[in-house]
Amino acid sequence: MEEAYPRSRKFNRVCVFCGSNSGNRQVFSDAAIELADELVKRDIDLVYGGGSVGLMGLISQKMYNGGCNVLGVIPKALMPHEISGETVGEVRIVSDMHERKAAMAQEADAFIALPGGYGTMEELLEMITWAQLGIHKKPVGLLNVDGYYNFLLALFDNGVEEGFIKPGARNIVVSASSAKELMTEMESYSPSHEHVAPHESWKMKQLGNYPGQENAE
Ligand code: AMP
Repeated sequence: MEEAYPRSRKFNRVCVFCGSNSGNRQVFSDAAIELADELVKRDIDLVYGGGSVGLMGLISQKMYNGGCNVLGVIPKALMPHEISGETVGEVRIVSDMHERKAAMAQEADAFIALPGGYGTMEELLEMITWAQLGIHKKPVGLLNVDGYYNFLLALFDNGVEEGFIKPGARNIVVSASSAKELMTEMESYSPSHEHVAPHESWKMKQLGNYPGQENAE
């Protein structure tokens, strides 16, 4: 029998960063579908970069078909159909990439990066950095499909080894090789690193909490 998830969800909406390409191997598309299925099962909504290209298109379509709310946040410049294709669900048009990332960060209770290129890596790193600074306290997950991010994770470890990343801050990014394991890990995430500046001092403090964490300090 299909495993039932508790009705009380830890996250209402997850932001997924992923490639505007699908990668050269089927395993990446399979992982996007697997993550979509996991989020649908858990009744979690999606915010993403909009459009139907690459893994972005796969996950948004699958979650939309599964009955989830899908919010695509897309800068005006990427709107033309030949650049980004169709967007399912709700579309929010913003003026630039900064506005897009701020909106995605604000709308989501947690972040997940699937495999992707520079854009995905930059979005992932920004959310890790914002967690380190104390701007938000939301979980940041990395779906390390078939070891795609092994070198990036090794670089983080090297950053700790060489004294550029505090050992506590290394735990900001939660990684797993399957969607189910990643969701379980993210649900039990609790920030343990020292924030660079107090959470309250950031103007973007509304980014801070996710359901169940409202009063957690
Ligand atoms: P990349 O990982 O380099 O493929 O970039 C993925 C991210 O870059 C997405 O989350 C978007 O923010 C942005 N992006 C790049 N190309 C496109 C596109 N054609 N349509 C929409 N967003 C795009």
